[in-house]
Amino acid sequence: MAQEMRSPIESGCPDGFQYMHPVMRKNYGQWAYHEDPQPGVLVHVAHSGDKIWTVRAGTQRILDVFTLRTLCDIGDKYAEGYVHFTIRSNIEYQVADEAKVEPLIKALRDAGFIVGGTRNSVAMMSHTQGWLHCDIPGTDASGVVKSMMDELIGEFTEWNMPNRVHLTTSCCQINCGGQGDIAINVQHTKPPKINHDLVSNVCERPSVVARCPVAAIRPALVNGKPSLEVDEKKCICCGACFPPCPPMQINDAEHSKLSIWVGGNHSNARGKPTFQKLVASGIPNNPPRWPEATAVVKKILKTYKEDAKDWERMNDWIERIGWPRFFEKTGLPFTKYHIDNWRGARASLNASTHIRF
Ligand code: SF4
Ligand code: SF4
Repeated sequence: MAQEMRSPIESGCPDGFQYMHPVMRKNYGQWAYHEDPQPGVLVHVAHSGDKIWTVRAGTQRILDVFTLRTLCDIGDKYAEGYVHFTIRSNIEYQVADEAKVEPLIKALRDAGFIVGGTRNSVAMMSHTQGWLHCDIPGTDASGVVKSMMDELIGEFTEWNMPNRVHLTTSCCQINCGGQGDIAINVQHTKPPKINHDLVSNVCERPSVVARCPVAAIRPALVNGKPSLEVDEKKCICCGACFPPCPPMQINDAEHSKLSIWVGGNHSNARGKPTFQKLVASGIPNNPPRWPEATAVVKKILKTYKEDAKDWERMNDWIERIGWPRFFEKTGLPFTKYHIDNWRGARASLNASTHIRF
């Protein structure tokens, strides 16, 4: 007898509609406008006249189960049992009754959470959590976020900035975490150190050779065993060889630093997207509080806050005043490391997603 077919194991995101607040489900795609009644609160108004209030609280990307239960209990008691998380890892509660907004905010604050991150504030830093799930981190991105956001709480809970500020950070130099108004990224400053005894057992050498963007890796025979060698003059210390070949260790307590980039913007809405540019390099990767990197970020934010016109994003402000004045005003030193002399730079100058022929 034919066996009954096994039902497929579904993976990936479940259908989001089942978790949506009923007012959101009913008015999906039918919103007329939204307003910002106070920091951390949005009200969306549908064409049908329905309204829904959203309250955003600052939460970290890696939530322990106890904090999550506390947040859910608050949602059950003071909201209407529906939450979602923003792309920057903040929890948001939805309520269809305006009278629930203030008690919900009070309950969140009483439990030690902060409410904010909307409109012209510094939104939560978006970040990766490399130590937990990735194979190539050079630092603990979550720790950098915690230390910096601790010092920027006032900028999260108030509308003090000329426009919204998106901060990002990454735990390696090549993948996630770029393209914010300010990005704090890992910067390796020396070529990888090869453990030749392990290469032949662990690495697929052709993939590693192909991975290098500047063709600095060659196959080599070391102590009679197949291994690899790096032309250190060519190497740009990007760390791309480390994921396919862990014996090419590039992380280094002393030589792996942080760098700060500004002016990135994905949006195509009012102008072309902009690439961020390096403004500070060689900053110590200094856990547990990263004071040097935080000081640079605060300096840039303070200058932007004082100097930009209302509603200018970071990249608009810099474009208006020019890069020389950006360095003058922030007091950041301009060094030879800021000059893009990489021979692949002509590709990095292709800075628009607009289609050309
Ligand atoms: S930034 Fe790099 S190390 Fe961190 S999660 Fe992304 S790919 Fe992994
Ligand atoms: S660090 Fe980057 S440039 Fe250097 S050898 Fe590895 S892949 Fe090539």
